[in-house]
Amino acid sequence: MSDPFVSPYFGPWDPNIKRLAAAHPILFRNRPPRIWSDLASGWYSAVDQLCTRIETTLPADELPNLKFKQLKEKFGTLRIHIEYRGSYDSPTWNTVRALIDAAQEAADRSCQDCGAQAELRQHGGWYLTLCDQHFAERISK
Ligand SMILES: [Zn+2]
Repeated sequence: MSDPFVSPYFGPWDPNIKRLAAAHPILFRNRPPRIWSDLASGWYSAVDQLCTRIETTLPADELPNLKFKQLKEKFGTLRIHIEYRGSYDSPTWNTVRALIDAAQEAADRSCQDCGAQAELRQHGGWYLTLCDQHFAERISK
């Protein structure tokens, strides 16, 4: 069997994605998300906590109906996409949706480099969520 965490097209997956999938084998089916993804180190704990909350909040028989589709950064913020094999009008999905929103909001306040308290910054045409220290490092380069 080939390693599912090495793409024939893109090469090895982000180590943070691989670590997250290993920590939450049911939600990830021991595989990467369906769409190529990356996860900034400072946002790892927000997504790790999201997985744990899903695992502890939902009935165990619902977990195999959920699967990560993609994790990515867009305009300096974390975007979390999860697929649900069920009704998107159901209480289950409403619960998951609220947990995803909370995780994205936590990431909005967390430095993408280190996880410390942060805010959205603009630098050189890019949006970045950074703490004071990491923002100072970026603008000094
Ligand atoms: Zn930082």
